[in-house]
This record gives sequence, C-alpha cells and structure tokens, in this order.
Amino acid sequence: MNAFDYLRPGNLDEALRAKKNAGAMFVAGGTNLLDLVKSDIEHPSLLIDLNGLGLDKIETLPEGGLRIGALARNSDMAAHTELRSRYPLLAQAIVAGASPQLRNMATAGGNLLQRTRCYYFVDAAFTECNKKRPGSGCAALHGEQRLHAILGASDHCIATNPSDMNVALAALDATVRVRGPRGERTIAFADFHRLPGDHPERDNTLAADELIVAIDLPAQGFADHCHYLKLRDRASFAFALVSVAAALDVADGTIRQARIALGGVAHKPWRAKAVEEQLAGKRLDADVMHSAAKAVVAEAKGLPGNAFKLALAPRAVARALEIAGGVA
Ligand code: SF4
Repeated sequence: MNAFDYLRPGNLDEALRAKKNAGAMFVAGGTNLLDLVKSDIEHPSLLIDLNGLGLDKIETLPEGGLRIGALARNSDMAAHTELRSRYPLLAQAIVAGASPQLRNMATAGGNLLQRTRCYYFVDAAFTECNKKRPGSGCAALHGEQRLHAILGASDHCIATNPSDMNVALAALDATVRVRGPRGERTIAFADFHRLPGDHPERDNTLAADELIVAIDLPAQGFADHCHYLKLRDRASFAFALVSVAAALDVADGTIRQARIALGGVAHKPWRAKAVEEQLAGKRLDADVMHSAAKAVVAEAKGLPGNAFKLALAPRAVARALEIAGGVA
C-alpha cells in the first residue's frame, strides 16, 4: 500500500478542483476502494472524502420519481419507507448484496463504481489482467471462470459487474446524475456501464473529472409485480453466479410491459430485451414465461468454467418472472 494524502473538502466545487491532481480519487464508504488500495491494486496519491457534503439525501421528485443521493448508505436505502414501498425491487437487490456491516458503509454512488471481483483482478499476485494492466492478457480465459461472463464479453476480458443494486437499477431504467467542471449532466443507466471491448480497463462512461451526485428513479416502480432472484454459491455474502431483476406491468391478466435485467453474466448489468419483447402483450402464464426466458442466452457463449450458466440463466429468468407475476 502506498502513502497518500487525505482531504475533506468543504463543498463539491472544492472536491472537483482537488480531483484535478494526478492520482486523486474520491472516497465515500470505501468498502471496495480501500480493499483495492490495501491490496496494491489502486495507488491513489490523494483521497478526497465526499462524506459530509450533503449528498446522502433521498427525496421525492416533482414528477413522481425518487432521487437517491450518491452518498446514501445501502442500509438507509433498503430501510427507506418510500423506497421500500414504491421500489421493492431495488430494496430486495440491495439487501441481497454484501453483509449488514458493509451495507451500513457502502453508498449508492460507490455501488455503481464497484470493480469486478475477478480473481485475477483483485489479487496483486496475478499480473496477466488487461483490466489491471492493459495489454498484459487475460488470465481468466485459461483459468477460473465461475464468476465470469457469458454475454457481451471480449477476447480481452470476461469479467462481470459484481453489484446487485446495479441490476435492479438497470431494470428500473434509472438515470445517473453527474457533476464535473463543465456542469451537471445525466447518463441513462443503460449507458453508464461499458462492455469490455478493446478497453476493459474502463468500467463506465464517467469522465475522470466527474463525480456521481445522485441516481434518479422514474415514477414507475413496478411495486405490484417484481422480484430480485440471486443465485450464488452460499446463502449470504457471496457474489451472484446469476441474478435476475424482474418487473412486470400487468392489467387484466395480460403483461403490458416486462423489464428484466441480469447480474453475474456480463461486464455490465444485462437487459434481456429479447425476453421483454416476447412477453409484452402475452397472458400472465408460467409456460409463456419459461418459453420467453430461453431467449436470454440466444447470443451467449460459455467457456469450460462457466457454461453451466447457459442452462442456469433461462431458468433463473423464468423463476424470477413466475414470482414477480404471482404464478409460481
Ligand atoms: Fe482481468 Fe478481465 Fe481477464 Fe479478469 S477477466 S483477468 S479482470 S482481463
């Protein structure tokens, strides 16, 4: 671990100015970043502490949505009365992640920026990792692949995004509000995280001088018909092998709209658009769901260590839909 300076800025503008220093990084809950610093994966010259800047509020928006401040703690989000009642899918996903102690520290913005838990990325002993050292190769391609991607991967990286919260936010069509020296802008959640392509070292589309200030949820929360299903190697404190956020808008026994996102299968939360399209306008029926769910792996590619997900993912999608629709 390298020595670094520490700054508690008095306001956001001071924080953004400090970020111009080479090697400066923002820190909020620190639950992922400090592990990476201690493990010699990240080497900040300056940590800019974002706590105490008033970014932790959760508030109703005039048009009916909900704004979650970037510094809102995971545990506060999961316990928030309005969030729990209007967006139970998000509350379920948050509670499925990490441990109570970690959720007490981890923040909304930090959750979006979690790095992959690929074994070869998080362990400094491994040097063959394009995400850690661009151009060095990918040890996972000929190594352990259990947590790795079956969708949207590249020859340069097969890592997955580890967050549960991100999967629910993808299904809910959230918007990310960011601020930088050029002012504030919004990024659709679908455009925030990247596929690895030729540059797996870049996880997302946030510019180096920008900061997440909030996450906006649209008014429609799919509270009546939603479910977050997480399949993992042990019952708690484990990352998803496959997870599914399923949300349905149902009227008179017919699915008007379906939203399905998966975790544990790609470098970003994966929206199953083909499944959603097959379900729209269909009756609320388990057979219909099982048939449509097969489309989730139409373009998937398994490797020796993760090909089991080709069978697991459609079953997980079908099961999450059954529970969300109340036809289980
Ligand atoms: Fe590194 Fe990605 Fe390969 Fe893992 S999958 S070793 S993060 S390049």
